[in-house]
Amino acid sequence: MKIRKIILSALTGLLLTSSALAQAPQPPERFRHYRGPVVIKMLSQEQIGRVCPHIPGIIVRACTYKGNPCRIYVSTTSWASTASIISHEKGHCAGWSANHEM
Ligand SMILES: [Zn+2]
Repeated sequence: MKIRKIILSALTGLLLTSSALAQAPQPPERFRHYRGPVVIKMLSQEQIGRVCPHIPGIIVRACTYKGNPCRIYVSTTSWASTASIISHEKGHCAGWSANHEM
């Protein structure tokens, strides 16, 4: 059996803004068209803390586990709109790396 490589990424609070409806940074065009199966779960910030990777000094608000299906976990508490976060995370499903290359 082939071991599936899990690509993990985390959306962080690094780009904190004062607007509750700010947009999460969007992936470049080539990563905006993921059409595979996706499971999206809205979780409390506490649950996100258990499911997503820990990054010292940063509050992780969402993360994606690439696979089949691609699993996206989004905090119900975030500085960015849920739609923009999901769009961001789908970019990771499509292969956008955690380095957020443009
Ligand atoms: Zn990201």
